[in-house]
Amino acid sequence: SEKIGRRGEELSKQAFEEAKQFLPGGVNSPVRAYKSVGLTPVYIERGVGSRIYDIDGNEYIDYVGSWGPLIMGHAHPEVVSALQETTAKGTSFGAPTLLETKMAKLVAERVPSIDVVRMVNSGTEATMSAIRLARGYTGRNKILKFEGSYHGHADSLLIKAGSGVATLGLPDSPGVPEGVAANTITVPYNDLESAELAFQRFGTEIAGIIVEPVAGNMGVVSPQPGFLEGLRRLTTEHGSLLIFDEVMTGFRVHIHCAQGRFGVTPDLTCLGKVIGGGLPVGAYGGKREIMEQIAPNGPIYQAGTLSGNPLAMTAGFSTLSLLTPEVYDRLEVLSAKLGAGFAANAKEKGIPYTINRVGSMVCPFFTDSEVINFETAKSSDLDLFRRYFAAMIEEGIHIAPSQFEGMFVSGVHTEADIDATIEAHRRALQKL
Ligand code: PMP
Repeated sequence: SEKIGRRGEELSKQAFEEAKQFLPGGVNSPVRAYKSVGLTPVYIERGVGSRIYDIDGNEYIDYVGSWGPLIMGHAHPEVVSALQETTAKGTSFGAPTLLETKMAKLVAERVPSIDVVRMVNSGTEATMSAIRLARGYTGRNKILKFEGSYHGHADSLLIKAGSGVATLGLPDSPGVPEGVAANTITVPYNDLESAELAFQRFGTEIAGIIVEPVAGNMGVVSPQPGFLEGLRRLTTEHGSLLIFDEVMTGFRVHIHCAQGRFGVTPDLTCLGKVIGGGLPVGAYGGKREIMEQIAPNGPIYQAGTLSGNPLAMTAGFSTLSLLTPEVYDRLEVLSAKLGAGFAANAKEKGIPYTINRVGSMVCPFFTDSEVINFETAKSSDLDLFRRYFAAMIEEGIHIAPSQFEGMFVSGVHTEADIDATIEAHRRALQKL
């Protein structure tokens, strides 16, 4: 761990200059460009376990984990060998394979709300399809979502969104037709009263509520006691569907996902990230009665050339197979230690600090106030965050370049990694 740290960035700089000529902003997903932190992005050469290495030869302890999927670290030997075996047999057929049923069965066993699941290729596709299904099933058009939540980049969901949208300050993207935006109602996260008011006013028009059961795109924000239960009650009372967007929390915060952790069962669940084990996967599933409305059994259309792809199913299945109850216990212990270490460092330096954590989702905010929604998340000192981020990268701790994203601890981070990270964090705060 003495080796970690960014000591040079010449090759990353050159690579980024060249990329900017051929990719918009030099990247295929906005936040990767490090625009809001004003630095040169770290160009990754390879990853192994908890570590990543950039093209300038620098080593980092990684807490991005590809933005959530890599809960068992980079290039896990079991995932790699399963992928090699599958690859040799052909990478895509567009015809049924046994792998798809094996994967669906495992997902149905682990996720309380899911009887039947449809595989797609990203979290965006999962939420977009779940929204279409909710609308088709209820015959209603409106969707209720929460400010600062991110559910992918489908038109209906890009309203007051979190994640990169918040990072870059683009709350309502151009290109989303007004008519579409008009069907999206937004209220503050953890604000059950506002959700109730929306239902009083539009109850018969609301197809469903889509919610991150732990918000992970405004930093990390836990659901307050009664919030998810209240949404469950409201949707049931008004004949709307409750959709949990578990793209980030699914298999991340609990073996039975956030719904298992909090004991609230939605009608539909969106998955992504961890279920793909680092390959491009999303999924949506739920009660049989609702899922039967999707083509070919029902009239609601959704399809995909590469959906249920053998490589994706293999990486997902082998990753889920590694996720035993012991792994989750370990994640809890390591993440608690990390959070406590960070908080102690901040206290020692007298820096305003609030740390939110749910399982292995950890997020420090530079504010004294409690962070319970997007408004309070934005009370974090963003200039301080930028300097903190630069110092962390320099110290060899790879985190997301945004205050509105959490850190992900993996099952392959060691106790020594956590100790080294707390030490690096202490030095980083010293530099502020
Ligand atoms: N929902 C949530 C909760 C997410 O965190 C994300 C991605 N960060 C998405 C949906 C979109 O997933 P994808 O980037 O795979 O399209």
